[in-house]
Amino acid sequence: MIDPILPTYNRVNLVFERGEGAWLFTKDGERYLDFTAGIAVNVLGHAHPHLVAALTEQAGKLWHLSNLFRIEGAERLSRRLVEATFADTMFFTNSGAEALECAIKMARKYQYVSGHPERNRIITFEGAFHGRTLATIAAGGNAKYLEGFGPALPGFDQVPFGDLDAVKAAIGPETAAILVEPVQGEGGVRAAPWAFLRALRALADEHGLLLVLDEVQCGVGRTGKLFAHEWAGITPDVMAVAKGIGGGFPVGACLATEEAAKGMTAGTHGSTYGGNPLAMSVANAVLDIVLQDGFLENVRATSGRLRQRLAELKDRHPAIIGEIRGEGLLLGVRTLVPNGEMVDAMRAEGMLGVGAAENVVRLLPPLNIGEAEIDAAFTRLDAACGRLEKGLRADTQKGAAA
Ligand code: PLP
Repeated sequence: MIDPILPTYNRVNLVFERGEGAWLFTKDGERYLDFTAGIAVNVLGHAHPHLVAALTEQAGKLWHLSNLFRIEGAERLSRRLVEATFADTMFFTNSGAEALECAIKMARKYQYVSGHPERNRIITFEGAFHGRTLATIAAGGNAKYLEGFGPALPGFDQVPFGDLDAVKAAIGPETAAILVEPVQGEGGVRAAPWAFLRALRALADEHGLLLVLDEVQCGVGRTGKLFAHEWAGITPDVMAVAKGIGGGFPVGACLATEEAAKGMTAGTHGSTYGGNPLAMSVANAVLDIVLQDGFLENVRATSGRLRQRLAELKDRHPAIIGEIRGEGLLLGVRTLVPNGEMVDAMRAEGMLGVGAAENVVRLLPPLNIGEAEIDAAFTRLDAACGRLEKGLRADTQKGAAA
């Protein structure tokens, strides 16, 4: 019999009752170190007092209005993001995929109102993940996610990640934009070389294309800069943001320059919930902390310390850990055993991580973890690797006996 929840996920059989910082607690009091952070969402951990206060205060005043009226929280959040980024304007959504949908529509509409209606194709990259709507699965191009869902939405040309010649070859008279994740998350924690991003910026400028970044996973401090493209010293024309911006409340945003947004006039796009007062109160509270002096420096320092411990772990377990990769606190451990086995072994040791492509386990802790959580992570990962080594030894013995 089908589960009352559509069974599109293989869920771990754990029920958490509450969370506190980087820790999750089950009903029977077991605790887990949460290095999934809701897949790069809970940037300030669970139940952060400032976010709880913002949400509960707003909950007593006003939950929802729709965009028929002005929403003060949205106006404030947009002003603050304009101040902190390349953007002049933005559209609020409830998820990453919706932020991408807005970005894709905006890129096409930009070319349309610029007198180039034929320019409606977008160059995307292998290994990309942009969401699960019809447009974003077409953009991502992953055959597994497209299979059985009918004709893929046309308008996307996919090339290998990091291959500049392939991008140049793909640019044609119908190209509108280039869409790229500065760091691919689901694709295996693969950071684009910063020089590659700079070259994409130059190509976009040369050919009159928009550079659209998907910073849904790598944005909002995750890499140690507010947005990952800052490492490359470039700015995009359009950028999709979600996950961390809401710290656990569903919020997304499509940020843009005034020029890129010029076709998105009244009536061209919409969302009932986008920019809802509850969401905006939490997102503003997230920014209160992420924009504090020293917050991002601290993310970079924490990343350095965690990476050092992970390098130590790799030395201790050369049969299990093949490589440490990533930026900031978007880290990946490529394992030499199936990554699912590593995730299971970690969970058995009281730590949560999440798989990605290329046999990688992602470590995505809250951005405000301290020394104690790094130590706890090291101990648990060390024990998980020990478990897996025991398994390998048992397999070898079995093989020898056979
Ligand atoms: N883009 C990237 C880079 C993502 O990692 C994700 C989600 O994992 C999405 C888009 C889609 O976001 P959502 O699941 O909120 O629709």
